[in-house]
Amino acid sequence: MKCRKCRQKAIIYMPEHRLALCQQCYAPWFLDHTERAIKKFHMFTHQDRVLVAVSGGKDSLALWHALTELGYEADGLYIDLGIDGGFGYSDKSKQACMRLAERLHRTLHTVSVAEEVGASVPEIKELTRRVACSGCGLVKRYFMNRISLDADYDVIATGHNLDDEAAVLFANTLRWDEEYLARQYPVLQERDGLRKKVKPFIYFTEKQTTVYALVNRIEYVREECPFAVGATSLYHKGILNELEHHSPGTKRRFLDGFFKIRERFSSPERAKLTPCQKCGQPTTTEICAYCRLVDHIHRRQAAHSVA
Ligand code: AMP
Ligand code: ZN
Repeated sequence: MKCRKCRQKAIIYMPEHRLALCQQCYAPWFLDHTERAIKKFHMFTHQDRVLVAVSGGKDSLALWHALTELGYEADGLYIDLGIDGGFGYSDKSKQACMRLAERLHRTLHTVSVAEEVGASVPEIKELTRRVACSGCGLVKRYFMNRISLDADYDVIATGHNLDDEAAVLFANTLRWDEEYLARQYPVLQERDGLRKKVKPFIYFTEKQTTVYALVNRIEYVREECPFAVGATSLYHKGILNELEHHSPGTKRRFLDGFFKIRERFSSPERAKLTPCQKCGQPTTTEICAYCRLVDHIHRRQAAHSVA
């Protein structure tokens, strides 16, 4: 197959765009579409300082690279979850983020959950009997917000792609979860001490972000988080891939169609956020969920050491 732009040998065919592109023409196309999404949803401008939450995977590292290529002022934040999984998952991920930071000559902020909380994500799972992903999501959201405020960033960007968002929408729709549906959007505006959050890769498939990472020789961690293996979201992604294969463009239409009617799901007046009495981060309760988690961990650890 030949590249539609220059007739050289194509490296990717995107049936949903009926478009084949070669190695040279792919990155400019990808950057152009990144910029379009940023503008369409008014995510940020060249005057804003952007904090990219990087996991060490292809999507978020490709995002950091793309934003710097587009001339945005974008630094990284890596949250070390302390997950080993038999292959040093978190250590490998951190290394990948550090390598890209060096190459881009940008700052990488890092924070260690084990140091801050006193327990890593697997230890939090054991001590709280929460499913790992719920404790993990809580600490990630907390540090993204706290560090973006402390280090004075205007907006937090994450690497969620079309496959992720379509799978979440699918799950929310299967449950008709109105509150979650009301909140699913590529831009969450700043409010009461919660920084603005954006997802510039909302329209790219996993294949597209992978190819961008490969043509730019970005070294990323290929393994999934060991806790994600077997997750329902992967099963939903498989179903959506079948639909997409049968009818290219399905995922994008699913998402865009939803964005048009999303306001119908507007949730009732949300509780006001006030500063946590311990840490000052926004919360709907006196003490935020993160500080309550830390307290709980410390109490469990003290009980264990006495026993
Ligand atoms: P996930 O929830 O693992 O699918 O990740 C979604 C997005 O959250 C990624 O694209 C990153 O932008 C961000 N993210 C995930 N894990 C981390 C981490 N350990 N540190 C910083 N950002 C992360
Ligand atoms: Zn707090």
